[in-house]
Amino acid sequence: MPPPRPQYSWPARLALAALLLALCLASLLIWRQMLIAQQERIAERVGYQARSLARQLETSLNDQVEDLHRMGLLWNHRGRIPRDEWTIDSQSSLNHFKGYQSIQWLGADLRMRWVLPLEGNEAAQHFRLTPAHPNFDLAMQAKGAGEPRFSNSFGLVQGGRGFILYTPLYIRNEQGERVFDGFLQGVFRVGKLMDELLANLDSEQFSADLLEAGHPIYSHPRTDTLVALQQEVPLRLLNNQSFALRLTPSERLLEQLSTPLPQVVLGASLTISLLLVAAMALALENARRAGALQASNQNLNLQINQRQQIEQVLRESRERLQLVLDLTDSSRDGLFVIDPYSREVLHMNQATYSSLGYSAEAFSELLKEDPEQLLPGYHQWLEEVRQAQQARLSTIFQRQMRRRDGSYQPAEISAQLVQQHGHEYLIGVSRDNNERLRLEAQLQRLSQQDGLTGLFNRRYFDNQLSSEWRRLRRQGAPLALLMLDIDYFKAYNDKLGHLAGDDALRQVGDVLKSCQQREGDTACRYGGEEFAIILPDTDLEGAMHVADEVQRQIDELNIEHPASPLGRLSLSIGVAVAQPGSGEQPESLVAHSDQALYRAKHAGRNRTCVWQHEPS
Ligand code: GH3
Ligand code: MG
Ligand code: MG
Repeated sequence: MPPPRPQYSWPARLALAALLLALCLASLLIWRQMLIAQQERIAERVGYQARSLARQLETSLNDQVEDLHRMGLLWNHRGRIPRDEWTIDSQSSLNHFKGYQSIQWLGADLRMRWVLPLEGNEAAQHFRLTPAHPNFDLAMQAKGAGEPRFSNSFGLVQGGRGFILYTPLYIRNEQGERVFDGFLQGVFRVGKLMDELLANLDSEQFSADLLEAGHPIYSHPRTDTLVALQQEVPLRLLNNQSFALRLTPSERLLEQLSTPLPQVVLGASLTISLLLVAAMALALENARRAGALQASNQNLNLQINQRQQIEQVLRESRERLQLVLDLTDSSRDGLFVIDPYSREVLHMNQATYSSLGYSAEAFSELLKEDPEQLLPGYHQWLEEVRQAQQARLSTIFQRQMRRRDGSYQPAEISAQLVQQHGHEYLIGVSRDNNERLRLEAQLQRLSQQDGLTGLFNRRYFDNQLSSEWRRLRRQGAPLALLMLDIDYFKAYNDKLGHLAGDDALRQVGDVLKSCQQREGDTACRYGGEEFAIILPDTDLEGAMHVADEVQRQIDELNIEHPASPLGRLSLSIGVAVAQPGSGEQPESLVAHSDQALYRAKHAGRNRTCVWQHEPS
C-alpha cells in the first residue's frame, strides 16, 4: 500500500501563505521605495542642473552686459564718447558675445542714433521710442533710476522677438549739470541669446524652455523628454524677474541615472521570499516526516517486542514440544497421529516403526500405500474405532501388525478419533503385548493346571465340564465322562514313600495325556490320586475305547506296587455318558461316573465299569 501523501495542517498552510504574502508585499514596498528614492535622486539631479544652469545663465548675461555697463560708466564719466571709439568698443563686445542682435545708442530724444552692426538691423535705424512701445515705461524707469534695466520680450522692428538692456547715459552740460544723454541699448534676439547661453547644455540629457510669465518663449527641445520630471527655476535677469527656466530631463539621462537595483532587489527579495517559504515548508514537511518516522519506529519497536515475546513463547513451547517428542521417542509404546483417510503421518515416535523392523520412511509409505499390509483389516478396524467411540465403549483393540519380515506382532492399540480445525485425526498408542499375552496365557495355563502332573486341575475341570455341557446341549451331541482312581494308592505311599507316590502320579498323568485322542478331550487331576477325562461328542463306545486304552497303557507301564495283589499299579475307571439338555445337570454326570467307579472298586479294582441307570 502506498504511503499517504503528506498533508500540512491548515494553520501551518495559512501561516506559510500569509508569510509569503507579507514577504512579497515587503519586497514590493522596498522596490517602490527604491524607485521613489531613485526618482527623487533624478529629480534632485534635474533640479540641481536647472538651478546651476539658471545661475550660469544669469552670470553669463551679467558678464556680457558688463561691457555695456562699463561703456555707460565711461560715457557718464568722460562725456559722450566719439563714434569711432564707441564702434570699436561695441564691436569688441559683439565679437565677444554672439548673443547680441545689436548694440545701439538711442539719443536723449529717444531716436536711434547709432546701430552696430547695421547689417540685419536696418529696420532699427530710424526707430524712435515712443510711449506706445511696450518698453517705454521700463526705459523711463532706467532713466529715472540711473540703472540698467532688462526688458521683457517684445517684437523687434527687425522681426522676431527679443530683449533689450537699457543702460541710461548721462553727460554734464555746460553748467556742469548731469543730463540724460539717451540709452546704450544691448538688443538680444531671444533665440540667438538663448542658443548662446545654452550652448553648454547637454541636449542629450535635457531640454530647456525659457518661460516668460509662465509662457514658453523659447524651446531647446528633445522629443524623448519626461515631462513628469521637469523642473522650473526662476531666472533673475538683471532687474527682470518675470522669467523662468524649465528643464526637462531626457529618457537617456533617466537611463543613465537609473540603476537596475530596485528591479534586482525586487527579483532577489521575491526569490528569497519564495525560497524562504519553500524552505520553511520543507522544514515543516521534514518535521512532519520525522514525526511520522518516529511514530512508525515506535510502532515497529512495539511490533518487534511483541514478535520477540511471541518468538520466546514459541521457542519455549517448541522446546516443550521437543521434550514431549523426545519423551515419546523414549517410550517403548508406539505413539502416532495420522490422517485416517489419507493416512499421512503427522507424527510418530521411533517405537511405532522400529519394533516392526521398518525405517520411518518405509513405515510412512507403506501406511499410506497399503495400510492392510501393515495392519490387516485396517479399514474395518477404523470403522470399529469410530463405532466404539460413538458408543462410548473401550477403544483399546487387540490387533496384529505385520513386521517387515512378514511375521506378525500382536499389538494392543488404543485409538481415538479427534476433530481439530474441521479435520479428523487418528491418535493411537500401540503396544507390543506379545510378552504380556504370553505371560497371561502362561498364568491362565498355570491357574488351570495341576502342578504335579501337568494335567488340568479341578477348577478347569468344573468350568470345562459346564461349558462343554452347554455347547453339546446346543449341538444335541453326547458327553462322556471317565472317573479314574489309582488302586491301593495309600498303601503304595506307605510302602514306597510319597516321592515315589508323586512319581507314580506323574506317570499316570502322562498316560492320560497321551490318551486324549480328539480335540476337546480333557484329562484332569480331579484330586489326590483321582483323575477325570471329559470326552465331548463321545458315546459309550468311544468312552470305553479311551478307558481301554488307559488301562492298556497303565498295564504297559508296569509300575511296581508291592502292596497290591497285582504287584503292579492299576486303575479303576467309572464311565458315564449323558445327553446334555435332557433335564440333567453336569453334576449328575459326575455323580454317575463316580458311582460307576465305586462299582469298579467293589468289583475288585483294575477294571472299568459303566454307569447304568438302575431302575428305582
Ligand atoms: P482304594 O483302592 O480303595 O482306592 O484304596 P486307596 O488306598 O487308594 O484309597 P484312599 O483313597 O483311601 O487313599 C488315597 C491315598 O492317596 C491317600 C494318600 O496317601 C494318597 N495320596 C493322595 N494324594 C497324594 C499325592 O499327591 N501324593 C502321594 N504320594 N500320595 C497321595
Ligand atoms: Mg481314592
Ligand atoms: Mg485309590
